[in-house]
Amino acid sequence: MRGVVMYKAGDVRVEDRDVPKIIEPTDAVVRLTATCICGSDLWPYRGVEPADHTAMGHEYAGVVEEAGSDVKSVKVGDFVVGSFVISDNTCEICRSGYQSGCVHREFVAQTVGTQAEKARIPHADGTLVATPGQPDPELIPSLLAASDVLGTGWYGAVAAGAGPGKTVAVVGDGAVGLMAILAAQQLGAERIIAMSRHPERQELAKFYGATDIVEERGDEGVAKIKELTGGLGAHSVVEAVGTQESTMQAINSTRPGGHLGFVGVNYDVTIQGIELFFAGIHVEGGPAPVRRFLPDLIQLIWDRKIDPGKVFDLTLPLDEAAEGYKAMDERRATKVLLTL
Ligand SMILES: [Zn+2]
Ligand SMILES: [Zn+2]
Repeated sequence: MRGVVMYKAGDVRVEDRDVPKIIEPTDAVVRLTATCICGSDLWPYRGVEPADHTAMGHEYAGVVEEAGSDVKSVKVGDFVVGSFVISDNTCEICRSGYQSGCVHREFVAQTVGTQAEKARIPHADGTLVATPGQPDPELIPSLLAASDVLGTGWYGAVAAGAGPGKTVAVVGDGAVGLMAILAAQQLGAERIIAMSRHPERQELAKFYGATDIVEERGDEGVAKIKELTGGLGAHSVVEAVGTQESTMQAINSTRPGGHLGFVGVNYDVTIQGIELFFAGIHVEGGPAPVRRFLPDLIQLIWDRKIDPGKVFDLTLPLDEAAEGYKAMDERRATKVLLTL
């Protein structure tokens, strides 16, 4: 079967990979309907993470082609969406809603590689969620978004305590930041401030519910947030970038007693303990427990209450994955959908 392989940083190829098969009775093999390239795939592409003939991809939606003998919640022929983290959904960590910290967790990016025609998904019962029926083709991008960026943005907004009466600030206008705006709006936030300086992304931010746009960054961005919130800072801040500047901007934009949800993968960020100490804020983040939110997110998409699929602004056939990586690396695209 065809699949994306990153030979080394900057060198992406589509070639024949082994056809996945059931290994454990809890596995399922999914024939992918669509897959995509993630902002985090740019880390190995840019050499920040190692890449050595690595099978790429961790976001996926498709049809169950084969199910192991112990799989009960999904069956052959079901259309399924799965989290980018494998989980059993039964251990104590999973039952508390933190499936991305499951005692059996595996990162799909490291052990599966879903930029391919098929994928073997371990712990299928705990990782996959079936849709109510076969989806209309127009719903596929949105269902695919639920696999990571929607689930991650949603978690960021939940971790930030977004809700009625709250002012939410979102640092980052990539796919996850835009999905955090969508989530804040759905969770009933009163005011949503998008921090963005790209005109097209500002438009999408407004489409998803942003009420204010702040173009300033760093300390100037913090000052602007304070200005918009009577000098107090936002109740809820989502950090969806992961750089030193964006992280400090997020911490300093949060009012004392407020909540910061951080979901940007943050290499090389150093936070002085004393800065966190005097900020006096609640901080929660990490790889999102997408599985917690998947049933609700699928239903919202199914009922056409949300349209997260709009974050895909470039669609290419799987065979042109290399161009997709290039377009995202050069910021010509926010997020690339790969068709099969
Ligand atoms: Zn991703
Ligand atoms: Zn678990």
